[in-house]
Amino acid sequence: MNGVETKLPPNFISTIVAEDVKSGKHGGRVLTRFPPEPNGYLHIGHAKSICLNFGLASEFGGLCNFRFDDTNPGKEEIEYVDSIMNDVRWLGFDWDERLFHASDYFEQLYKWALDLIRDGKAFVDSLSADEIRETRGTLTEPGKESPYRNRAVAENLDLFQKMRAGEFEDGQCVLRARIDMASPNLNLRDPVLYRIRKMSHWRTGDKWCIYPMYDYAHGQSDALEGITHSICTMEYEDHRPLYDWFLDNINVPSRPRQIEFARLNLSYTVMSKRKLLRLVRERKVAGWDDPRMPTLAGIRRRGYTPESIRAFCERIGVGKKESTVDLAFLEYSIREDLNLKAPRVMGVLNPLKVVIENYPEGQTEYLDAINNPEDPSAGVRQVPFSRELYVEREDFMEDPPKKFYRLSPGREVRLRYAYFITCTGVVKNDKGEVVELRCTYDSATKGGDSPDGRKVKATLHWVSAPHAIDAEVRLYDKLFTEPEPGDDFMEKLNPKSLEVVEAAKLEPSLEEAPPGSRYQFERLGYFCVDQDSTPSRRVFNRTVTLRDTWAKVMKAEGISPVK
Ligand code: ATP
Ligand code: MG
Repeated sequence: MNGVETKLPPNFISTIVAEDVKSGKHGGRVLTRFPPEPNGYLHIGHAKSICLNFGLASEFGGLCNFRFDDTNPGKEEIEYVDSIMNDVRWLGFDWDERLFHASDYFEQLYKWALDLIRDGKAFVDSLSADEIRETRGTLTEPGKESPYRNRAVAENLDLFQKMRAGEFEDGQCVLRARIDMASPNLNLRDPVLYRIRKMSHWRTGDKWCIYPMYDYAHGQSDALEGITHSICTMEYEDHRPLYDWFLDNINVPSRPRQIEFARLNLSYTVMSKRKLLRLVRERKVAGWDDPRMPTLAGIRRRGYTPESIRAFCERIGVGKKESTVDLAFLEYSIREDLNLKAPRVMGVLNPLKVVIENYPEGQTEYLDAINNPEDPSAGVRQVPFSRELYVEREDFMEDPPKKFYRLSPGREVRLRYAYFITCTGVVKNDKGEVVELRCTYDSATKGGDSPDGRKVKATLHWVSAPHAIDAEVRLYDKLFTEPEPGDDFMEKLNPKSLEVVEAAKLEPSLEEAPPGSRYQFERLGYFCVDQDSTPSRRVFNRTVTLRDTWAKVMKAEGISPVK
C-alpha cells in the first residue's frame, strides 16, 4: 500500500505512465520510488516529489519504494535518516516493507564495475581530482583523454581490487567509465564511478572504503528494484544519457525510464539543503524544525496539517519549466484546511484590563460560544464572563481617527458572545499610559444581540481576567525580506521573522490543549500548541494570520498560483 490516496491533476508524467500501462510495457506494472539522500531534513520541495511519486503509484494501482540514496558517507547522519522517514509518514505515505538503500547494492554495484572493466568500459585513473577537472574540457572544447585510459584490463582489475582493499589513500585514484572525452555531453566524458573515502558508513560501517557516485548507483538501484518510472528534477536531464548508458552496458535485470520535472521554488524561501544547513549551523534559526524553516519538520511545528501540504502539492501542478510559487499560496492551503477543522477560541495577545463597573463583583456567568461556524457538529462551549476582562490594547484608542470603530471613550461595542459595553473612563499610570478601561454593560444584550435593534460597528474578542490562562505566543513572519533570497540569502534575513509575546491571556478552555493541537484565535489567526509546551509554560505558535491575500487575488483575477 502507498498510504493516503493522492491524485495530482493530469500532467505530462501521468500521460507517459498511462501510455506505458496501456501498451503493456513492464507488463502494465507501475513502480516508482522516492530516493532522498540522508544529508538534511526534507522540505516542502521534497513534498512535491513525494506526492508525485506516491500519487502516481496509487493512481495506476502500483507501488512506490522508499530508498535512501546513501552513497556519500561524509555528509549522512542518522538524525536525518530518522527525520526523513518520520516526515514521509507524517505526510500520510507508506512504503510497507519496501525500504531500500543504495548501500544494499554496494556488492552488486562493485561486481558490475568489474564487468565494465572486463569489457574495456571502465578504467582506474591515477590523475588527481584537479587534473580530472582540468582535462574535462568545456561546453565548446572536447576534453583530454587520461594517460591511464588505456591501461590493460588485468591491470585495471588489479588496481580496482586494491582500491577496495584499502591499499590506496583518498584521492589517489578513481574508477572512471570509458565513454567519450569528446562527447558534447560533459556527463559522458569518462565520468567517475567510484572514489576512495576512508570513512565509516552509517549502515556498512568500515566494510567499504570505495563508494559509488550517485550517477553510477542510481539507475542500477532503480533497475535492481524493478522501478518502471524514475522521476527526478530537471537538473538530471543532462545525466539521462549516462543513466541510459549504464543500463545499456550493464547486465541489469530491468529497464527503468528516467523522467525529469521542474523542482518547486517558493518565494521568500531558500530550498537548497546546503543553505538550510547554514541557517541551522550559524544559528539564524533554532534548528531544522524551527517553524520559520521550509522543512516539513518546521512546517509541522508551525501548525501545518499534512492534508494542507498534499492539497498544495496537488494544486501547483507538475511541469518542465522552472517556476516560483507564491508563498501566499501555501498559506492559502492551510487556511482553507483549518477553516473547516480548527475550533475557534478567544485569546488576547496584548492585554488591556477592562472593568465593567455595573457588573456585580465576584459574579461569573458562562456564555455559549460557537466552536466552529463552518462545522455545526463541533458544538458549543461555555466561556466565563466576569467584572474584569482583558481586551486587545490595539482595540482601544483614546483619541480615535474617523474610521476607528472599536473602543474609545463614549463608544459602544460588542464583546463576542457576551454583551454590548460602553467605555466610560480611562485609568492612566504616572507616565500617562492607559492601563485600564472603565466600562458599563447592557444586560439586555446578552449573547451579543440588542433587543432594540441598536447597532454597533465593532465586535471584539476578550477573556475574563480571573479565569484567563497565561501563555507565550510566537508570531512568525517570512524568514527573508526578499522574494528571491538568492545566494546572499544570509544578508536578506528578516529581523522581524519572530516576535515573542511573553504574556498573552487565553480563555480557560485551552488549559489542557495538547501539543500539536490547532485553533483559530478569533480575529488573530490560526495557532497551534508548540511541541515543547507544558502546563506550567504554555507556548503557542501562530501558523498563519487570517488575512488571505491569495484568496482575494484569485477571486479577482482568476489566476493560477504559479508565476
Ligand atoms: P542534494 O543537493 O543534497 O542532492 P536534493 O534536494 O536533490 O539535494 P535529495 O534528497 O537528493 O535532495 O532529494 C530527494 C528527491 O527529492 C529527489 O528525487 C529530488 O529530485 C527531489 N527534490 C529535491 N528538491 C526538490 C524540489 N525543490 N522540488 C521537487 N523535488 C525535489
Ligand atoms: Mg539529490
